[in-house]
Amino acid sequence: MPKAQETLLEIDLNALKHNYNYITSKLKKDTKLLAVVKAFAYGSDANEVAIMLEELKVDYFAVAYIQEGVALRDAGIRTPILVLHPQPVNFKLMIDRCLEPNLYSFRVLEQFIAIASEAKQTNYPVHLKFNTGLNRLGFTMDDVDSLTSKLKQTSVIKTKSLFSHLAASEDMDERPFTLKQISLFKTIAEAFADKIGYMPLLHISNTSGVLNYPEAQFDMVRTGIGLYGFGNAEAVDKELKPVASLKSVISQIHQVNTGESVGYNRGFIAKSPQKSATIPIGHADGIGRFYGHGKGFVSINGKQAPIIGNVCMDMIMVNVTDIDCDEGDEVIIFGKDLDANRLAKQANTITYELLTAISQRVKRVFL
Ligand code: PLP
Repeated sequence: MPKAQETLLEIDLNALKHNYNYITSKLKKDTKLLAVVKAFAYGSDANEVAIMLEELKVDYFAVAYIQEGVALRDAGIRTPILVLHPQPVNFKLMIDRCLEPNLYSFRVLEQFIAIASEAKQTNYPVHLKFNTGLNRLGFTMDDVDSLTSKLKQTSVIKTKSLFSHLAASEDMDERPFTLKQISLFKTIAEAFADKIGYMPLLHISNTSGVLNYPEAQFDMVRTGIGLYGFGNAEAVDKELKPVASLKSVISQIHQVNTGESVGYNRGFIAKSPQKSATIPIGHADGIGRFYGHGKGFVSINGKQAPIIGNVCMDMIMVNVTDIDCDEGDEVIIFGKDLDANRLAKQANTITYELLTAISQRVKRVFL
């Protein structure tokens, strides 16, 4: 692999394939896999990721917004796409591009039926979300009666799946809460099927759900972070391979004398003679200001260099006093050899945020 000569995000599609195979090996024979590719496939590039997963015969995709689904269709993706948080203003576009909505309230249900009916649709596949404890989006158990009677009155839409989302599947201290969510979901599904006369597909598990609650796989699971190489548990992380590696290069090295400062607001003052390296990556690329002042670090020639002072828009400065390095040397921000999880934790955030924050101006390179 050639050394990085500029800031870039390397996407290892073989690692993606490995993670896909690992997750499918954990599924029961008939459980379908939905790949969550929202937010540019957690920063990795949704088109390339979806093309690879479609080749692997993934059953479903999910995105957050309609425009993300349109981009996948433009890239030639034919696999069904669930839109997790569709905005009614774009429902017509959604139907034109064969994207399937999550309908989570009577308001969006009615709006969707009206627009689908104008578009002369029958049995348009929709997914109904139920709130089982996350308190974010969804119908409740109390809605089942009026919901099913409304659905019985229309042939414009057809319920393809019922789903819910786990609030804390990675947190074993919250196991009783998660089990309650799973049990409530079952009760809702049974009541719904009883009233409507058939059982749609059921799904509730995200990556940690798949790994920690095998009994809750139902008909499909929705995995995101696991596909990109992280499992929220050390044992699992060992089995998964990080897909994205963020790399850069040293632009310039400065000698900083005792008492001199580095960066905006004089955020770092040298207590002794120091060597500082400037790297062309900043908060506009997704390395937020909370990585400054030693919270974040990079790896240069196998050694860890802490970020000093404030993160700038396009640059960070790192302390390389004890590192043998030159201008033009490669810098690893995270990747196979530097755990993104650890970097995120150190800055008091999560890998999801670190990955999805990598901005679109960072060049993506595919391996
Ligand atoms: N399902 C829904 C509704 C989500 O919002 C997400 C991610 O945020 C997922 C599934 C995937 O979760 P994970 O990345 O933990 O696998």
